Amino acid sequence: MDTEKNHSTESQYTIIEECVRDLDLDKSTTELLQNPKRELKVSIPVRMDDGSVKVFTGYRIQHNNAMGPMKGGIRYHPEETVEIVRSLAAWMTWKCAVLNLPLGGAKGGIICDPKKLSRGELERLTRGYMGRIWKFIGPETDVPAPDVGTDASIMGWLMDEYARLSGEYKPGIITGKPIRIGGSLGRTEATGRGGVLTIREAAREIELELKGATVVVQGFGNVGMYSALLARNMLNCRVIAVSDSRGGVYNPDGLNLEEVIEHKAKTGSVKGAPNTQDVGSAEVLEIEADVIIAAALEDAITAENAGRIKTKILAELANGPTTAEADRILEDRGIIVLPDILANAGGVTVSYFEMVQNRTLDYWTEQQVNQKLEQKMVEAHHEVFKTSRARGISMRKAAYIVAITRVVEAMRLRGWLD
Ligand code: GLU
Repeated sequence: MDTEKNHSTESQYTIIEECVRDLDLDKSTTELLQNPKRELKVSIPVRMDDGSVKVFTGYRIQHNNAMGPMKGGIRYHPEETVEIVRSLAAWMTWKCAVLNLPLGGAKGGIICDPKKLSRGELERLTRGYMGRIWKFIGPETDVPAPDVGTDASIMGWLMDEYARLSGEYKPGIITGKPIRIGGSLGRTEATGRGGVLTIREAAREIELELKGATVVVQGFGNVGMYSALLARNMLNCRVIAVSDSRGGVYNPDGLNLEEVIEHKAKTGSVKGAPNTQDVGSAEVLEIEADVIIAAALEDAITAENAGRIKTKILAELANGPTTAEADRILEDRGIIVLPDILANAGGVTVSYFEMVQNRTLDYWTEQQVNQKLEQKMVEAHHEVFKTSRARGISMRKAAYIVAITRVVEAMRLRGWLD
């Protein structure tokens, strides 16, 4: 898994190196782009339910704050590594810059399996993590959020623990909170919604009729589930297959998503949902469809399976689902890849809206949030598309060019560079 995970780190460095050459950036600029501003590694002792103490390792990596306070989620995953958190932190810098948000990038993680912890253990671990990072974060410095393995209730504990430690009620310390304690309407489905909007824009560009178009979704957590629902409800697509880490389900006539969701709520997996055929978690990516949404983890599409992917549009709703080699194969095969730093930016965009609402105490309706999200996603999509056409490069490379140009300009204006 570790070597596989390094693919993501590697693919990001490869593309940054290419952009640095194209933009003719000097050595010190490149070093600042490639290295985080600060890395925290913490050890968190947790009293387990059986009375023993277990020590967990956590990270918070702050990549770049040239454009504003750093922003990025916290992951709870058993195979988390410092390298992957480092990559994810940098991806947040590029993602915020592509969306033109006044934010930098950071990411955190704890090596743990949240599915194997009791509610109490999870809360003690979460509060212990905040106890070790709280001096280094804040609404003006670094604002965490949910990611793989974390959710709104964990954000609620983090917000409360920060208030307890600092003696100040500051909901803007974290985003993705429950609505009652300062969360934003529309945040939960925002990543899926943003992704579906980029798919809509890309389909218009290639004149792909989305009504009845087939869609496959790999990954059925928060992001995968909402992108499947919205692909059907907003775009009138036919979702023919979805998968999670335990297996996948297929129905060429279109899945009954409500039944699949109910089955997953009961059994923990989509596998075996009524009126479906079983497919493997990885094989789902090889089902022919007009649109494939990769919404699981990094490195799902590698040199090994990229040749077997049969689609017109691949939307990266996960972070780093495609390795550098796979990316080249997909490009050569004429598949449009909507890169993660654009396609999954809906989540951080509504997180930014949550920060704005927390600061102004003016809370928006869901319709207002969705309208503003649409405006941001469409604007970013077109900027990236325009750059890709003007320079004759892929959407991924164009997104990096847009992002790096903005971050470098901010660094120059702040006097960090010549
Ligand atoms: N974890 C999400 C991401 O990777 C959201 C981050 C945020 O809202 O700060 O983009």
